Amino acid sequence: MAQSSENSAGKKRRMKKKTKQRADDILTVAGQDIRPGEVRTIDFDLAPLYTHSELAVPIHVIRGKRPGPRLFVSAAIHGDEINGVEIIRRVLKDITPGKLRGDLIAIPVVNIYGFINHARYLPDGRDLNRSFPGSPKGSLSGRVAHSFLNEIIDLCTHGIDLHTGARHRSNLPQIRANLSDEETLNLARAFGVPVLLDAKLRDGSLRAAAVERNVPILLYEAGEALRFDEVCIRAGYRGVMNVMRSLGMLAKSRRKPPQEPMIAEQSNWVRAPASGIMRAVIPLGGQTRKGDVLGVIANPLGDWEVEVKAPAEGIVIGRTFLPLVYEGDALFHIAWYRKRSDALLEQVESWQNILDPNEPSDDQQGSGEPPIV
Ligand SMILES: [Zn+2]
Repeated sequence: MAQSSENSAGKKRRMKKKTKQRADDILTVAGQDIRPGEVRTIDFDLAPLYTHSELAVPIHVIRGKRPGPRLFVSAAIHGDEINGVEIIRRVLKDITPGKLRGDLIAIPVVNIYGFINHARYLPDGRDLNRSFPGSPKGSLSGRVAHSFLNEIIDLCTHGIDLHTGARHRSNLPQIRANLSDEETLNLARAFGVPVLLDAKLRDGSLRAAAVERNVPILLYEAGEALRFDEVCIRAGYRGVMNVMRSLGMLAKSRRKPPQEPMIAEQSNWVRAPASGIMRAVIPLGGQTRKGDVLGVIANPLGDWEVEVKAPAEGIVIGRTFLPLVYEGDALFHIAWYRKRSDALLEQVESWQNILDPNEPSDDQQGSGEPPIV
């Protein structure tokens, strides 16, 4: 009951935002007034560098000529997670105010400090995605979180936050969201990747802060930090466009809708049973059965080794690519399903074929540009 009343409160709140937009038709972002049909790039000022240089996050706002939802798409909240930056570039190339109902607010580089330094965190060593809601008098991260939340996220009715795995760790494209909320679940399905995780909210995350404000939000995870991955980028581009279509912000595609994704029961990391040098033998997207060998850890002399085994049947949705491991290191992230994973494996394979980077991209995959290899 609590859940459904929360949902209806959320809907009312979002309706109010839309009504407000129709009443005055002016959207004010970081002090700039933007009218329907306008496109604007805004410098969102943050604390300057200690070199006297100013620093600003670039924000691109596209206001549709017709009213509708207001979606934010953000990337690089972890400054070294760059697939999302390219996803947003491709999306922005394709959206014009004439095509759009409602507004798109794109923030390709939220953690601009980390992005400049190839670093996940802010210069104060904090994780921006654990610093929400933040405070104007708090740490640097807390201040960035506070102004981003209050000046950008608060304007929006829906959101998508784009992430990748950490360094040396890659994720199979997946959506993490609060799937017990019906509207969020529908958006997650519309995104169109085969793996959905009903992920717990983490304290201090942007996702938790958005949910607190009744803004349905998806978190897209794909690929590895500091690397471009064409399949992950194509899947993300398609996903953002699919969500905009499902929200009525873009005209529906005549293509058949994406395959029905499967929701994982749970997911866990398989950790290293010992320190050593690992030879992984299962790819990302591979299927495990109970007792399967996922990798072998040996010492450099080759006179000792131990197998890393799968504790149950599932699909590898994340893994390390760094063979040098300490005992306890997270090696393989496995999603477990109630149904047998064969069906999911087939889905993952056919979906990867659609996104094959050796094939030129089409309008569903991002602007017909040559694939990044
Ligand atoms: Zn991240």
